[in-house]
Amino acid sequence: MPKSFEDWEKLAADIEIDPRPFIGAGRIATDGSDAFSTINPYDGSVVATYTDCDEDVVGKAVEHAKATFESGTWSRNTMAERAAVLNQWADKVAENADVLALLDSLEMGMPIANAAGDVEYSADFIRETASLGLSLTSPAGVTAPGTLNLNMIEPLGVIAAITPWNFPVNQVLVRIVPALVMGNSVVLKPSEVATASALRLADLALEAGLPAGVLNVVTGTGAQTGAALVRDPRVARIAFTGSTGTGARIQALAAEAGVPKPMTMELGGKSPHIVCASFDEVADLAPVIAQSIFWNSGQVCSAGSLLIVHENLADELVQAVMELGKGFTPGHPLDPNTQFGPIATRGQYKQVQAHLSNAKDEGANVHPAYQTTDGLFVAPTLVDGIAPNAAIAREEIFGPVLAVARYTELSEAIELANSSGFGLVATAWTKDLGEGHRLARALKAGSVTINSSIGVGGEISTSLGLEPVGNSGFGADYGFPGLMQFAHAKMIAFNTH
Ligand code: NAD
Repeated sequence: MPKSFEDWEKLAADIEIDPRPFIGAGRIATDGSDAFSTINPYDGSVVATYTDCDEDVVGKAVEHAKATFESGTWSRNTMAERAAVLNQWADKVAENADVLALLDSLEMGMPIANAAGDVEYSADFIRETASLGLSLTSPAGVTAPGTLNLNMIEPLGVIAAITPWNFPVNQVLVRIVPALVMGNSVVLKPSEVATASALRLADLALEAGLPAGVLNVVTGTGAQTGAALVRDPRVARIAFTGSTGTGARIQALAAEAGVPKPMTMELGGKSPHIVCASFDEVADLAPVIAQSIFWNSGQVCSAGSLLIVHENLADELVQAVMELGKGFTPGHPLDPNTQFGPIATRGQYKQVQAHLSNAKDEGANVHPAYQTTDGLFVAPTLVDGIAPNAAIAREEIFGPVLAVARYTELSEAIELANSSGFGLVATAWTKDLGEGHRLARALKAGSVTINSSIGVGGEISTSLGLEPVGNSGFGADYGFPGLMQFAHAKMIAFNTH
């Protein structure tokens, strides 16, 4: 792993990106007619130019995936055989962490230290999910003398995986590894904002022994490549991670095409942190709140973007978070000391600015931690004094913007926390265990964390399932529930007379 800024810059100057789609046994040539480029958000340079794969190329990928699935290679292997290959893939991902991290940093601006951490975490995710597959059991029972009933767990077929740009390596792996563990074949369409690491992951999978055709990667935009994949009748299930709006469009597209099919939808969020009056350790809490919203420049689905704090603690906590925000300063993403990168795209930058200007129009007080006109950087910003129905408290911003609401009665805090319609993650801080239990039940979210925060000391347990609710989507991620998204339980009844 390179150590210094200069090392990373040299690696960036030397790196060669193969932009061709990965179908079947490796990269394939395309006619290059529809092309798009990824842009480094730090300096505006072109990182790579890819084909916007059309229906024909997508069809070819689905055909390879289907043929491989039906051949029984992989789909009829034992869990142990599949785990052995997936573990080798994990090793290769870890060995190539520098290149994968660099590709993500170049294409979406994530600080290199964070990107490297993300790759390491993702390699572990492959191992943990493969090992979970090994301990999957299915029920069997005798319903009457002379009978034996059991559940056979079977893979589904071709899974279409469509992923976002905010943690390119991790979001691709979270979407596809459970499908692979269960024996499916996959056609992946990574985000058009950050594509290179997904292609490199497929190269590494092939090197690790994944049979040709099990994992295919088509490059392209949502409107062309993604839509073609959704419409393909041979796809057995769609596994999507992205915004709530795109999730709804994908559901409509599949229905319009007459191919309604099962889907996993991991969508947007507006994740509240409720700070109860009993939680008086403001000095310890402030760094957690700051990290939860400013990490990855707020471009995190579970970012703690709404702070709902008891009025007695509010001034002190807001002041402390604001002070910490000043430390998240713009830096070159390839400098290992940088903790705060630019917003990934110009479009996303404009959206964040539009949310801030709307908040001002609604009468809120917008406090950036510092002034910056630096490229696509948005300073860590607190928005205080918000009206009860303010959009800033309900809409996903996907930037380093923390909306602050103060409350007197806990019931008001719960009502506001549940009012956005999203239901991804909710967090509460309390010294009262009973209050913690009541909040865990009252908060509408796929995961509720009490006195811990996802990604900031409180990691997701990848052996337990979590399922978003409301506008954050449906279908479980992680654990056995996550694996079962990509399999069906067939009931077999034997008469043993
Ligand atoms: P996005 O919805 O714009 O794009 C996601 C993917 O969908 C991309 O690959 C895109 O090309 C594709 N797409 C777009 N239109 C399509 C169409 N018509 N048909 C098929 N595919 C289409 O999201 P984004 O900007 O890449 O990512 C940010 C969003 O992702 C945020 O809302 C964030 O909360 C969400 N997210 C959710 C989770 C989670 O686990 N719930 C994790 C990460 C990100």
